[in-house]
This record gives sequence, C-alpha cells and structure tokens, in this order.
Amino acid sequence: MAYQSINPYTGELIESFDTATDDEVRCAITKADEAFQSWKETSFAKRAEILANIARILRERHTDYARILTTDMGKLIGEAEAEVELTAKMLDYYVEHGEEELQPRTIHVEGFPDGKVKLDYEPLGVLYMVEPWNFPYYQIVRVAAPQLIAGNTLLLKHASNVPRSAVAFEKLFKEAGLPDGVFTNLFASHDQNELILADPRVKGVALTGSEGAGAAIASTAGKYLKKSTLELGGSDPFIILEDANLDKAVNWAVIGRHWNGGQVCVSSKRIIVVDSLYDEFLEKYRAGVAKLRMGDPLDPSTTLAPLSTQSAVDILDKQVKEAIKHGAHAERLGDPVPQTGAFYQPTILTGITPDNPAYTTEMFGPVSSIYRVKDEAEAIKVANGTPFGLGGSVFTEDSARAWDVSRKITTGMMFINHPTGVKADIPFGGVNRSGYGHELIDLGIHEFVNIKVIAEP
Ligand code: NAP
Repeated sequence: MAYQSINPYTGELIESFDTATDDEVRCAITKADEAFQSWKETSFAKRAEILANIARILRERHTDYARILTTDMGKLIGEAEAEVELTAKMLDYYVEHGEEELQPRTIHVEGFPDGKVKLDYEPLGVLYMVEPWNFPYYQIVRVAAPQLIAGNTLLLKHASNVPRSAVAFEKLFKEAGLPDGVFTNLFASHDQNELILADPRVKGVALTGSEGAGAAIASTAGKYLKKSTLELGGSDPFIILEDANLDKAVNWAVIGRHWNGGQVCVSSKRIIVVDSLYDEFLEKYRAGVAKLRMGDPLDPSTTLAPLSTQSAVDILDKQVKEAIKHGAHAERLGDPVPQTGAFYQPTILTGITPDNPAYTTEMFGPVSSIYRVKDEAEAIKVANGTPFGLGGSVFTEDSARAWDVSRKITTGMMFINHPTGVKADIPFGGVNRSGYGHELIDLGIHEFVNIKVIAEP
C-alpha cells in the first residue's frame, strides 16, 4: 500500500489506502470533465458561496481538522491550528476578490473604438495538482481556491504520507456543496503521471515539491504540451547586517529555521551574519535553539516537532554527515531527542565552504547553516550562491538599505526584518531551481485561464 498515514510521533500506522487503478484514474478524468461543463457555467456568486462554506466548516471544526494534520505529518498542534486558519483565509480572499479578478479587462488600442478590445478570462478545464505533505491543507487550497473560483475542475494527487488529510479535504468540499467531480482526490502512482497528462481533457498541472518531482512532472507535461507551474525547494538566505536589531534577528532566526520542524520550503536555512555581530549572534542563537522542547506535537507545550517520517530523519542525518566530511563543524544543541518519534537533534553547522555539498543543498529539518561574512557585499554573494531562488530575508534598521539589498538577491520573495512569510494575500513563487509560476492572488488565477483577446475594430 503506497498511501499510508503513520503518526511520526508514535510510529503507529493509522490507515492505509490502495493506489488507484488505471481505470479509476480514467473514470475520475471523465467525471472531472463532465463536471467542468456545468461548473464553468455556474455563477461567481454560487462558486463563492461554496468556498465560503468550506472556510466556515474549517473554522467551526478547526480542532478536528488540526488533529488530522498533527497525526498525519507531526506538526505542532498550534501550527496545525494556524494552518487551518490560513487555509480559511485563502478561501476568504477568493470569496471577496475572485469575481473582480476575473472581470474582462479593457485595453486601449490605437485604431479601435474605446472599449472594443478586451481580455476575457476563461477557465481551461480539468487541472491536475500534485502536492507535498508539509502543509497538507494549505497546499491544496493554494491551488484549489483560485482555480475553483475561475471555473476549472481539479484532480489532486497528494503526498503518499498524508492520505487522511487528502480524504478529509475531499469530504469537506462535498459537505460544503461542491458538485460531484469538481474536486477529486486520486491516490495516483508516479507511473500514472503520463496517463493523466496525456489525456486531452487534462489542460495543465500545478506541482509543489522537490526538484526531482518537478522535473518528472514538467517533462511529461512538456511532452503533451500542457501548461505547468512548479513550486519547488529553496535554501532561503537570512542576512543579518551590522545595523540590525540583533535580539529581533535572533528571535526570528530561531523561529524561521524551526517552525514546522524546519520543514518549510521557505525556512531560514542559511543564516548569513556580518563579522561584527557574528560572535554575539551565535551565542544568542545557540541559547535560543537549546530552549526548544521536542515532544508530543499534540501537547501545546512542545516547541519542536518531529520530522514527517523516519526516512526524513535518515536523509537529514546523511546530509549532515556529508557536510562534516567536507569540513563543516557540527554542534548539537538542546535536550537529547525523546525515546519515541522521528526527531532530529537540533544542529548548527559552521565553516561551510563553497565546495561543501551543504553550501548548495536544501536541508529539511532543524539544521542551521551559519555563515560569517565580512560585509554586505559578501553577504549578497553568499545569499546568491545556491541554485535556488525562493525566498530570503534581510535584517537592518535602515529601510532604504534593506530594499536595496532585497533587490540584489535573486529570489521570488524577500522579507525585511522577518523570515519569508506565508500569507493568504501575498503571492508565492520562486526562480531558478525553485521553479516557475505563481500561486495566490490574481497571479494564481491567471496561471490556468485562457486569456482571450476579443477585438472589434
Ligand atoms: P516530493 O517528494 O517531491 O513530493 C511532492 C509531491 O510530488 C508528492 O505528492 C509526491 O508523491 C509527488 N511526486 C514525487 N515524485 C513524483 C513523480 N516522479 N511523479 C509524480 N509525482 C511525484 O517532495 P516532498 O518531500 O513531499 O516535499 C518537500 C519538497 O517540497 C521540498 O523540496 C520543499 O522545499 C518543497 N516545497 C516547496 C514549496 C513551494 O511552494 N515552493 C512548498 C512546500 C514544499 P509521493 O508522496 O507519492 O512520492
């Protein structure tokens, strides 16, 4: 059974699900395509009403939905509650703005009467979405909310370790009044990519995940000339300049690196500190990390979650050993890991040189890479020294300088005096090996609509 929910804290197998057969996949595509024919004609008001119902039910039963997240992939219960609320807020956004963001746009063109050249936004049809386990609900809705309001229908392939989260969401959509076939959870195998993307009724694919998954999906999509968006990994720089508020920077660095067990695409993975603050920063950062408490993620007093699976712990451990082999210094911090649970001892890596694999590899867990640089110019150079380009942060009390440095970092998102943020109304997306395309606000909607020109000279 490829799809299994195993509680990362207790190791208990909670539920398993069979992988879909090819016939089930074909049948789901047929249903999604049939549903599209009526969903695209459904009024904005009706679509918005259903999205609002989803948000309402999520909020009414937030504790139940949060517990599913924590027991599926191990995040802290407080973080699970926050994810439920963030998910509801993304739905609110499209209830409020979706219709307005899909109104035809008038463009003024010489030789055409005023108002006679328009861009219409038409839904494309069935879309495939492939999502990761680290934010099981948020990731579904980041694609589903804009695409449902636009009139598209969706097939979801969720990560194989969070099937209960996927099933909970499919049921939620149904309960909120979404017609049959408009959103279908498929326990698809990797091999079924081709079956799905080759089907002419499937018009595009949105993937969030690793570079490997991105390359597999995008190449299959390319083979069948289908539009794709890729939201991939990152190794966000977190720059601290000499005029930063140090205590604020330390506090945010500890949070930015360790929330969600350190398993966020935009975790503050590389902390880059100018020489004059480095020693003081390191001392305070060590103390902050050492205070984190590993334990039962359902216990509100726990502050560091287990990783999503034991294999995630093994991969991280291998990466750290490889970093040490290439000359990095590793310092383990805090209490020993608990007896049960997929925990990794919080670790600080220093002395990472550009030839160390750790310099350019994404590490998914509580491992902080800390760099000492002589000045702002070197900080920018180190920040831009990976193949990724997702998010980043700069800490300085000089706002003009912060904006200037932000513009010199090659990423899709920069936050000043804050780790890269995740909000319902700020678009998300990266460059280079962090992917292409955007999710959220109107940019997310416009990825999968036909922007049609209608002109009357
Ligand atoms: P992953 O292994 O790539 O899995 C992501 C999704 O892709 C899962 O549903 C997975 O299914 C599927 N998948 C993997 N290989 C596939 C293939 N060859 N064909 C079809 N589907 C395939 O990534 P992950 O370990 O779950 O997630 C962590 C990665 O996602 C990190 O790199 C992280 O930075 C990135 N991420 C990026 C963002 C963003 O917005 N940029 C957000 C969150 C996470 P299975 O589970 O069945 O393998």
